Amino acid sequence: MRWKDARRSQNVEDRRRGRSRGRRPLGGVGLIVVAAVAIFLWNESPDEVIQEVRERLAELPVGGSVYEPTLAEEELAEFTRTVLAFTEDVWATIYGQVAPSYRGARPRYQEPTLVLFSGVTPTACGRGEAGMGPFYCPGDSQVYIDLAFFNELETKFEAPGDFAQAYVIAHEVGHHVQNLLGVSGQVHAQQSRVSQEEYNRLSVRLELQADYFAGVWAHHAQGALDVLQEGDLEEGIRAAMAVGDDTIQRQATGRVVPEAFTHGSAEQRIRWFLLGFESGDPAAHSPFEMAYERL
Ligand SMILES: [Zn+2]
Repeated sequence: MRWKDARRSQNVEDRRRGRSRGRRPLGGVGLIVVAAVAIFLWNESPDEVIQEVRERLAELPVGGSVYEPTLAEEELAEFTRTVLAFTEDVWATIYGQVAPSYRGARPRYQEPTLVLFSGVTPTACGRGEAGMGPFYCPGDSQVYIDLAFFNELETKFEAPGDFAQAYVIAHEVGHHVQNLLGVSGQVHAQQSRVSQEEYNRLSVRLELQADYFAGVWAHHAQGALDVLQEGDLEEGIRAAMAVGDDTIQRQATGRVVPEAFTHGSAEQRIRWFLLGFESGDPAAHSPFEMAYERL
């Protein structure tokens, strides 16, 4: 991908390791905590107090000095900011093509926030964990990514390359588009009333639409933005295949159980990604308007 000279998104919140929102220096609250600890420990020897205060201080988020990302991590974070900006540019232009097809859709595209975290982080959807992989939370309209997943994508999922990573980001932004269109809300309401099998089928439709939207984004990334290079599309396809339910099930248990699919098979995910890529029109196809067997 050609991305280094492109715009970075301002909508990234960096919560990695010791970094907190906005990297605040040790301010009023921190000092009060330290003083409270000192008073509480007054009966202990001064050495113990100093030691205890040191330990408490180390736990507090202190401006900028806690976390030093490696060069590779910083490049990955910059890349993520840039891809998010690419999605903002594309969706600001094409969201209006699809919104009228959905009753209750927000009239205009609203940019999501992307949270970079490390390990665990609180979200409006409960505790976010790195092991869940990247995800979108409709409750706070935020995409959550632990950048370690991109290394996993290359090693464990055998899907290397920057466009494989871009596909993952574009897929999560696809879930954000579904949220703005009101699709996620409708699907989750339906899911509370149906059998487990139907629940899973609705989930597959939702995921395939997010793949479709990722493909639509890739179409415009290649066209208007001109960021795709030779081999990029193949990297995206490989990533879609790697995160197919059958691929993952086969890796985990050695067998494939289609009734337990929640994201779609590798073949389906590639198909919907490519359908979006070929059409470039977010309103042209929908996995919700098709018999499940034909998806
Ligand atoms: Zn998804």
